[in-house]
Amino acid sequence: MKYLILGNGPAGVIAAETLRHNDPAGEIVMVGSEGLPPYSRMAIPYFLEGNIEEAGMYLRKTADHFASLRITERNGRAVGLDTAARLVRYADGTSENYDKLLIATGSRPRSTRRYPDSTGRRSRIAGR
Ligand SMILES: Cc1cc2nc3c(=O)[nH]c(=O)nc-3n(C[C@H](O)[C@H](O)[C@H](O)COP(=O)(O)OP(=O)(O)OC[C@H]3O[C@@H](n4cnc5c(N)ncnc54)[C@H](O)[C@@H]3O)c2cc1C
Repeated sequence: MKYLILGNGPAGVIAAETLRHNDPAGEIVMVGSEGLPPYSRMAIPYFLEGNIEEAGMYLRKTADHFASLRITERNGRAVGLDTAARLVRYADGTSENYDKLLIATGSRPRSTRRYPDSTGRRSRIAGR
């Protein structure tokens, strides 16, 4: 069984570790797109203020943490998905097959200003 996890933020990391705990034999590949070890975004302000070193943002503190769990780390930006073929395509032109896929690529905030009655909605929520 090959598990492919897109995203190496907190969700991807916990998923990879939990899979390894429950499936000692499966192949696990965890993909990040930023060329960095898994890190905590909430630690960014502390880093920018100089209160912690870069390594202080890392979610796991030992360099061989994922290797020791036989979790393969890969850097790449997924740009295409063929669910019939069970295949993910990356921006660099390579692709990778999987048996089970988890998309844990985070999210982006969306401004409510683009919705026509966003002001009314905000007022109603604030009034609760
Ligand atoms: C400045 C800041 C402060 C925050 N403070 C707090 C806080 O105090 N408390 C709190 O609860 N939350 C906080 N958050 C929110 C918290 O960081 C997120 O809820 C959390 O990071 C979500 O984790 P995630 O794994 O779902 O996604 P992410 O952490 O966003 O990780 C997603 C990963 O997916 C990868 N990825 C994205 N697209 C692709 C792609 N196409 N192909 C391959 N990989 C891809 C990226 O490399 C990324 O690392 C803060 C966020 C920020 C930015």
